[in-house]
Amino acid sequence: MTKTFEELGLSKNTLEAIEKKGFTTPSEIQALVIPELLKEKTHLIGQAQTGTGKTAAFGLPIIELLNPNKNVKAIVLTPTRELAVQVSEELYSLKGKKDIRVLAVYGGASIEKQLKSLKKGVDIVVGTPGRVMDMMRKKALKLDELEYFILDEADEMLNMGFIDDIKEILKETNKEKKMLFFSATMPKEIINIAKEFMPSYKKLVVEKNELTTNLTEQIYFEVRLDDKFEALCRVLDSKPDFYGIVFCRTKHDVDEITKKLKARSYDTEAIHGDITQAQREKTLDLFKNKILNVLVATDVAARGIDVSDLTHVINYSIPQEAESYVHRIGRTGRAGKKGIAITFVTPREANMLAKIRRITNSDIRREKIPNVKDILE
Ligand code: ADP
Ligand code: MG
Repeated sequence: MTKTFEELGLSKNTLEAIEKKGFTTPSEIQALVIPELLKEKTHLIGQAQTGTGKTAAFGLPIIELLNPNKNVKAIVLTPTRELAVQVSEELYSLKGKKDIRVLAVYGGASIEKQLKSLKKGVDIVVGTPGRVMDMMRKKALKLDELEYFILDEADEMLNMGFIDDIKEILKETNKEKKMLFFSATMPKEIINIAKEFMPSYKKLVVEKNELTTNLTEQIYFEVRLDDKFEALCRVLDSKPDFYGIVFCRTKHDVDEITKKLKARSYDTEAIHGDITQAQREKTLDLFKNKILNVLVATDVAARGIDVSDLTHVINYSIPQEAESYVHRIGRTGRAGKKGIAITFVTPREANMLAKIRRITNSDIRREKIPNVKDILE
């Protein structure tokens, strides 16, 4: 399934640059966007989470297609100075041996120096709207030969109130250029601008890991190993509408917890790799029909399960990899419904929690385990 960079149709020069950078496989958004832009010149909107390589997604095909003549052929607008520098460096490192000049223009740095570089001839400008407008007013920056106009981190651009500036800059550009918008989210305003300025466009979206942090409330309980089962029961008892999956690390844990839950008359069954296919399907059926409201599972067994409206995901054991955490909690909070992901963390596992937080960049709040009073109320 996963494509290689070779298969995306890039030239030898670019492939060498990619290799030098140490990229081995294209990210999902890259696999979608690169062939599309290489195939035809089109307006395009690309959406994928932060950190998924959107810069190279638009940068590689532009580098590939550009006929450099030292007149600005592509401009990338970024919301911050730091990003202007970062994006220009990324583009520079991807251009390989191709004779393309990339220049970052941004406020807070000497305009003289940037003007001088501009005069020498530049193919790709990466800049913040303010400085770009400055340079246009000074007639130093001409955008009448543009082939690509890229709005990077489009949602951030709007948040920072750059909409009028963007429109202002667009007015000074030639008609033939194509516009590419990239963003982690796609608020209505972005679609509206797209509709206003693009006669038609392609939209490529990567629903990364279904990690809908805004839809999934993430909390954790600090709990001793010996108290986990009691904590689980309290959660189940305090949430009468509970409909969820309890994730455990091992098949043995799954079996044991299922047995103990059944002994306390919860409507539950287990799913793991040693359970027959027929039995698993039967269990899933019961769960989907909400005859069972608690499914106890290992990661692997739960992977293919597509149940849409879970209220809870419980990490009875904290996942050993951030990716697994994302997979697990992506099963709740779907279809516009708020879900809750609860992770049980023993004092020894604090490091793992910190790691998951860092890698997934998510806000996992500590909460108290529901006490018996909460349950009786
Ligand atoms: P985004 O704009 O989606 O937030 P960036 O374009 O800033 O993401 O890329 C994030 C980081 O990932 C950068 O350091 C970039 O060099 C790196 N990167 C991009 N594509 C790949 C890839 N295919 N393989 C490995 N690393 C990549
Ligand atoms: Mg980016």
